[in-house]
Formats: sequence, C-alpha cells, structure tokens
Amino acid sequence: MILVLKYGTTKEQTLDLCQWIGSFGVQANPIFGSDTIIVGIVGDTSSIDINTIENDDRIEKVMKVQEPFKKANRKFHPDNTLVKVGNVTIGGKQIVLAAGPCSVESEEQMIDIASKVKQAGATMMRGGAFKPRTSPYAFQGLRAEGLLYMKRARDLTGLPVVSEITNPSQLELFNEYVDIIQVGTRNMQNFELLKELGHCKKAILLKRGFSNTIEELLMSAEYIMSGGNENVILCERGIRTFETATRNTLDISAIPMLKRMSHLPVFVDPSHAGGISWLVEPLSMAALAAGADGLIIEVHNDPKNAWSDGQQSLTPEAFMELTSKLRPLATLLGREI
Ligand code: PEP
Ligand code: MN
Repeated sequence: MILVLKYGTTKEQTLDLCQWIGSFGVQANPIFGSDTIIVGIVGDTSSIDINTIENDDRIEKVMKVQEPFKKANRKFHPDNTLVKVGNVTIGGKQIVLAAGPCSVESEEQMIDIASKVKQAGATMMRGGAFKPRTSPYAFQGLRAEGLLYMKRARDLTGLPVVSEITNPSQLELFNEYVDIIQVGTRNMQNFELLKELGHCKKAILLKRGFSNTIEELLMSAEYIMSGGNENVILCERGIRTFETATRNTLDISAIPMLKRMSHLPVFVDPSHAGGISWLVEPLSMAALAAGADGLIIEVHNDPKNAWSDGQQSLTPEAFMELTSKLRPLATLLGREI
C-alpha cells in the first residue's frame, strides 16, 4: 500500500503518521520528495481499514498495490483448482453442464428432467427448493420437500445435485441432500451465510451479485475459503446495466478476468443472464469460447407452465440440441463435454 501525503505535511507529522500505521503490525517507510511525501507500507495490510486511513487529515490518496483477496488469488496458487464432486471434476478439461428446472415442482418432474439432461450430456442437475423471489406472493419453492425430490432423482440417475441455500438454518438439510450448495446473486454478500459455508465441507457455487464487481465476488469467495472451505466455484450470471432488452447483461470479460485473477473454476449461467430461452445457445457458446469451465442451465419439461422462469427455460429436447452444438466447440477449444 502506498500513501501520498497532503502538500505541506511536515516531517514531524509524517513520522507521527508512520508510527501510528506501524501500530497495525506493518512497516511504514516515508520517502521525502521536494514537494511530495509518500509512505510505502509493507507487511500484511489486511487488518488495516482503508477508510480510516483515507480519512486522516494528512493523507491525500491511498493506493493499493496488492489485491485484498489472498486465498482466491492466482498469484499465490498458480495452478487451477479442481473441485471434485462425486465422479465430476470441475475446473479440468471437461466442461461441466448442470441442468434442471428453476424450481423443483414434483418428484416425477425432477426424475424426468434429470434423466433427459443426463442423456444429453449433463453431469449434474440443478433445481431450486428455497427460492428467493422478488415478490412475497410468488411461489417460494417446495423447500425441504423439493430437496427430497432431487435426492430421489440423484439416487436414480447418479447426477449430483446443485441447489440454492438462502439461510444458514437450512445447512443441516443441505448437508444431507445437496452436493453443491449454490449461493444466489441476492446472497453473494450475505457475509454471515458465507462464514457458515466456510465451515462446511460441501462445494459452493458462488454466483456474482447482480450489482457487484469482480473484486467483490472474489472477496466473497475469500469469506468462504478463509473459513476452511476451499471448494468454491465462481459463477458469472449477468449484471445489471442500463440495457433492458435482456434480463441482465452477461459480462463475458468477467470470465477471462476471473480466470486470470483467481485459480478457482468459473461457471456461467446463460439462463439468468439473458432471461430468454433463445439467447441461451449464443450465450453458452460465448461463455465456452471465453474460457468457462461449466454452464448451469435452466431446463423444464413444460416451460410455458413452469412455476418460475419458464421464459428462459429450455425443453429437454432443446437442451439436447444445445449440447450437440457445444460439443464440437469444446473439442475445438481443447476441452470436452
Ligand atoms: C437460480 O439459479 O434459480 C437463481 C435464482 O439464480 P440467481 O441467484 O443467479 O438469480
Ligand atoms: Mn431461475
């Protein structure tokens, strides 16, 4: 971290400032120029509150030279992290496809969709049981019953289950029924939830908040990892912009940026990004081309009558067609589906 001091700061004030900064357990080294004084801070600066320092009367500007995320940082972990869930390895050569309905609606539906998406090449199933809905009057999910239906579909198909948690009180249920715990866009900065997930052993699919930066996403991953759970998969699912033609704007550049900044696997959710079923194919293609390790896609047996997100859901047949188009692209990219 580098501090630029205000014009007119005296030598005595500078030394006093360095002593104060030193009390945070770091070394503060002043450099006196002809009209500007700068202070270089070395050591572990993670315990320093930048806002407090920035507010100090003597300081003009604070410049960070290192990213605040450590465990998620590729600098300290150059190799890709592989997250293993059952027989599936995420972050390796295989492009992992997770598919299923937005909300679990019945046991038969889950079994039907899971077996069809498996045939098409999916190696994991998705389904929401605890749904964070904008309206309290909208369907809130089948809750524990929904998780049980997914577990039954897993027992029959062997596909690991991805489902969203909305509250730490659900962890006991998730530990029993779910293989990958999804943190949704609305909960990316629910820090108490993230801390609890740091203590569990399940892999976490951490979705980017729709108004959060890439660094904030990585800091949320850091919350989970610093608690001891390093099995984190990042997920770009579209962010809010001024554009209204699509539900969100898929931030394609986030994919190579995340892969460069972090060693964690990166998923893309083209369904929530575009919000329209016909957009899923081009967005999936773009995501793979940009380096995504996997896709999470909404698939429904009867999209027109889906209890949530039918407009962006593919039929199992359309999902089959999609995977047949993604396979040659994956090969071209040196990967496989
Ligand atoms: C979902 O996966 O169904 C979902 C609600 O996703 P997001 O949190 O990205 O909106
Ligand atoms: Mn959905």
